[in-house]
Amino acid sequence: MICLGIESTAHTFGIGIVDDKGKILANVKDVFTTEKGGMIPVEVAKHHRNCYKDVIQKALDVAGIKLEDVGLIAFSQGPGLAPALLVGLDVAKELVKKLNVPVIGVNHCIAHLEIGNLVTGAKDPVLLYASGANTQIIAYEGSKYRIFGETLDMGVGNFIDSFAREMGIGFPGGPKIEKLALKGKNFIELPYVVKGMDVSFSGLLTNLKQKFHSGKFSKEDLCYSMQETVFAMLLEVSERAMAHCNKNELLLGGGVCCNKRLQEMAKKMCQERGSKCFIPENSLLVDNAAMIAWLGITEHKAGVKTELDIKPYQRTDQVEVKWR
Ligand code: AMP
Ligand code: MG
Repeated sequence: MICLGIESTAHTFGIGIVDDKGKILANVKDVFTTEKGGMIPVEVAKHHRNCYKDVIQKALDVAGIKLEDVGLIAFSQGPGLAPALLVGLDVAKELVKKLNVPVIGVNHCIAHLEIGNLVTGAKDPVLLYASGANTQIIAYEGSKYRIFGETLDMGVGNFIDSFAREMGIGFPGGPKIEKLALKGKNFIELPYVVKGMDVSFSGLLTNLKQKFHSGKFSKEDLCYSMQETVFAMLLEVSERAMAHCNKNELLLGGGVCCNKRLQEMAKKMCQERGSKCFIPENSLLVDNAAMIAWLGITEHKAGVKTELDIKPYQRTDQVEVKWR
């Protein structure tokens, strides 16, 4: 069976096509971007409505199949921006009407974890999910995917992008900051904010903005110090979750995990505790629809049925896990 997955929780509108053996036939996307400012939900939705037909056609072309070959539709049910999620739901409804096939709504965060398992061979990992809007430590315990730690305010990617915007280096800031950080020489002490299993970035952002505008520090040193501090915070809570759950696998997910320094630190932490570190390729770390299609197939095989609606505030532990 071939599943067509639809991703539309935030900036990315994606179509993924995956077969029931886990072969990724296509993973195509179109990303909403802005020159200035952040994401305005209705603008994002407009972007998705304008591009969805092209993205579907491109995905079918890449996969080398016809729409009629699709036997299952999966879509991101949440969490995410409601106007953007609604576009995905509408596209799912339109395709189901055309094809008369089953449809399933899946959780975006769990999709990051399951695609990671598929492509890396991880079996029972702790997921460090570090993306634009989300920062969570997720693991399977007590028959659910549970959140062991998370950000108390903004997602780490949004934090990084806000700091980049403040320095006037454009959006998305992550890759640009990574480059500048390579040239940093002096470590500047910054607030290190871990509260139990949670992390927080807003105070750190204010502190960085002040330091930047004081003119006393170079962009390179600030970027370098920011990365060292923030990635250490993320890995501290990840490691504690691994110890608490007695798990010896760490899986990375989310766009921020494309960062090579974060990957290096994650590998080192795992090596030191005799654990394994699994890192999917970049196209499967960022928001993508192959992961939605794969989780759709996985849940469908297990007999999961879902409502045809969106769940903008869905938490991972609200999802009944029948496939494990
Ligand atoms: P996502 O929401 O998972 O698609 O990820 C998008 C976020 O990842 C944005 O906030 C980017 O700035 C961030 N990002 C992408 N590449 C990198 C990188 N190399 N280092 C740090 N952050 C990154
Ligand atoms: Mg994501």
